[in-house]
Order: sequence, then structure tokens, then C-alpha cells
Amino acid sequence: MVIIGGGFAGLSAARGLARVDCDVTIIDRHNHHVFQPLLYQVATAGLSPGDIASPIRWILRNQPRLRVLLGIVERIDPAARQVWMDGRDLVGYDYLIAAPGVTHSYFGHDEWSPVAPGLKTLDDALAIRRRLLLAFEEAERERDAARQRFLMTFVIIGGGPTGVELAGALAEIARQALRSEFDAIDPASARILLIEAGPSIMPTFPESLRDSARRALRRLGVEVREGTPVTQVQDGRVLIDSEPVEAHTILWAAGVAASPIGRDLGPALDRAGRVMVEPDLAVAGHQEVFVAGDLACFTHQTGKPLPGVAQVAIQMGAHAAKNIARLMKNEPTKPFRYRDPGNMATIGRAAAIADFGWLRLSGYLGWLVWLFIHILFLIGFRNRLSVMLQWAAAYFTYQRSVRLITRNPDS
Ligand SMILES: Cc1cc2nc3c(=O)[nH]c(=O)nc-3n(C[C@H](O)[C@H](O)[C@H](O)COP(=O)(O)OP(=O)(O)OC[C@H]3O[C@@H](n4cnc5c(N)ncnc54)[C@H](O)[C@@H]3O)c2cc1C
Repeated sequence: MVIIGGGFAGLSAARGLARVDCDVTIIDRHNHHVFQPLLYQVATAGLSPGDIASPIRWILRNQPRLRVLLGIVERIDPAARQVWMDGRDLVGYDYLIAAPGVTHSYFGHDEWSPVAPGLKTLDDALAIRRRLLLAFEEAERERDAARQRFLMTFVIIGGGPTGVELAGALAEIARQALRSEFDAIDPASARILLIEAGPSIMPTFPESLRDSARRALRRLGVEVREGTPVTQVQDGRVLIDSEPVEAHTILWAAGVAASPIGRDLGPALDRAGRVMVEPDLAVAGHQEVFVAGDLACFTHQTGKPLPGVAQVAIQMGAHAAKNIARLMKNEPTKPFRYRDPGNMATIGRAAAIADFGWLRLSGYLGWLVWLFIHILFLIGFRNRLSVMLQWAAAYFTYQRSVRLITRNPDS
């Protein structure tokens, strides 16, 4: 059994196979699993990388028949039932679960990537943290008022949960954490723009909650622009519709593209390159290959693809493992059915929106529920305790504990 990816789907699949009579190999290009929903907290100096990530070996240490390999899967050969790693190693399989997730998509403008970095890995988060904090440091040394304004202008492209969470946290840094620490600048005067090309931010939430998110962002001083596509991104400059905005920091939180290894499992791919899976999550024509998580495009339940969220990935990983166990017993596989536990996002300190279908929450109550659920789902007692303590301290002091500018991004 080979699992590609130690993300939410891969880990859930690995755990699902714990009591199945088989040898499992899990391959990941990083040695750690990252709790991506809290990456923005690392990027905005609220948490340390170690708080939201754990070594995959440690997480799965109690599964004696499982081995972990650190390596990049470059190619899958479904006909030969082989996976190629790092251009030199080959791993054979009887069954495969592909769960390598997705990456950023710049909608055909890959040249925007170095000037508008996205947030997907711990390295991305640390690079963004450095960029944000350096902007204020440079502004403090700057004498020219126009350049100071430029340095303290931040543009976030994409009004989904990641963009909204980044904008809210950044506004809090500027207006609260850094407030009285500089002499030449007033960090609270930083300009933060959140740009969404579609008609509304947070499009997957009901209108009442979107409105609540908009209000919370505006209270924090974030300029929210909806229905305004970004048409050009250059170093230090974006064109919003046709309006040029000069900004030192531009962050990308729009669009995803599937892992390129999905192409080996095609030809049925959607526009983002995700693999269109069968109702049981298998790949058409390959009953022994399953796709789980963000890489899977699953439309069988509602006619619309399931969203790329952690719960979908967790449930898919577990389901793929169960189907493999069924196949090993010569039983037929079962179709996947997603049980939607709800959707939530936070907008800074003490404000969040949560949609559980039967219950919609916003503001302080939404935030308390958001806190509780995120702490619950973090992996490891140490991480839960550490995050809880840091959030409690941040709540009472308005401080961000990890405001470190490091060149070597490993702290
Ligand atoms: C910034 C951010 C915020 C988010 N916020 C939320 C949220 O609030 N709520 C929510 O539900 N969801 C959120 N999501 C989405 C959620 O994190 C994803 O849906 C989920 O991580 C998908 O799980 P996965 O296992 O498919 O992929 P991932 O978790 O991305 O895991 C994929 C794994 O595969 C590995 N990998 C990739 N390619 C290769 C390769 N070629 N070879 C070897 N290994 C490889 C990666 O290193 C990674 O460990 C967020 C995502 C991001 C990026």
C-alpha cells in the first residue's frame, strides 16, 4: 500500500489502514504534517511553525507496519503500479492512495508568483512573516513620506477564508501589536486592501455571514473591494480593475492548481487539474488507485464539486482506506458520501463566522467556537496546549508572540 502525501487525507488514510493486514508506505516531500488552516497565524507572527506542524514519523509512530519516506513523487505509472521518487527511486504498490493536495494557481500568470507569494507551506508562511515585518522596519527608517506610505500599503488578492484571515490578522498587527513601538511611523495608519474579483468575499458562506465578515474587516480598517479583478501584478504595483495601487507587500490568496502528478491519473481532469474520481474515489480504469483530498474532484453527491477543505480530505482519506480493505477481502467498494460538519473562518481577534447549516454564528460567539474546534483538531497535546496558551496571552495583551525577522526560515 502506498500513500502519497502526509496531509489531512494521507494521514487519515494511513490511520484507516492501521488495523488492515498490509504494509503501508507513506511518502511526503516534507517530514512534517502541517495544519494548514492555521498557517496564516504563522505568517502573521501569532504562532510558531512547531505549534501547527508535527513530524509525520511521530504522528504515525504506533503503526509498526507503516514506513515513512521523505521524498518528492514525480511520476505515477498506474500500468506498472509504480511510483517514481526524486528521479531515482521506485516504489511498487498493490494499492495506491494519491493525496498530494494542490498548489497556488496564478491563472496563467506564473510571473506574478515571486512578487505576490501565496500561503501553502511553512516556508511560505515564514517568508510572508519576514516580508510583513520588514515593511514596517523599512518604513521606520524611511524619510520620504510617499515611500513610507508605499511601504505601509499591503494588498491581499483573494477574498476567500485565507485572504480574509490574513487581512484581519495583518490589520491587528498594525493597529494593535505594533501600535506604540515605532517613532517615525504610526503603524496604525497602514493601508490594507483585500481584493476579490468575484461579487463577494467568502462566497461559500450565506449572505448574512458574509456581511458580518465585511463589517468586522471594515472595523479593523481593511478596505474591502469586491467585484474588482486584479489585472496586473508587478513588483510593488497592482492594477485593480484599471486603478494602479503601489504596495510594498502583495500577497496571493486566490486560485488553486492541482498537483501535477494528477496528470498521470488522467485523462479525466477538471479545469484546475484535479482528478475526476469515481463514486468510490477510485480512478476510472484503475480500481486499485484512489484519490483523496484536494486533488480529487468529486461531484457525485450534489452535482457540484466538493470544496477543498480539511474535513473533505479527512473523510475521503478514511473512505479510500476502507474501500481498499474491502477490495482485499474481495468485497465491492462503497460510494463516498460527505457529511458536512460546517464551515468557519475568523476575522481577527474575537470575531469569526461559522455556518453549521442548522446554526449560524458570528462575532464573539463564532470566534469562541472557532477557537475550540481548531484546538480540538490540532495534532498532539503539546501543540494544543501551546496554541491555547499563546492565544490566551494574545487575547489579553494584544501582542503577537513570534514577531521575529529571520533570514533562515526555520524558527
Ligand atoms: C492557507 C490555507 C488555509 C486553509 N484554511 C482552511 C480552513 O480554515 N478550513 C478548512 O477546512 N480547510 C482549510 N484549508 C484547506 C485545507 O487545508 C485543505 O483542504 C487540506 O489540507 C487538503 O488536504 P490534502 O491531504 O488533500 O492536502 P494537503 O494537506 O495539502 O497535503 C498534501 C501533502 O502532500 C505532500 N505532497 C505534495 N506533493 C507531493 C509530491 N509530489 N511528493 C510527495 N509529497 C507531496 C505535501 O507536502 C503535503 O504534506 C486551508 C488551506 C490553506 C493553504
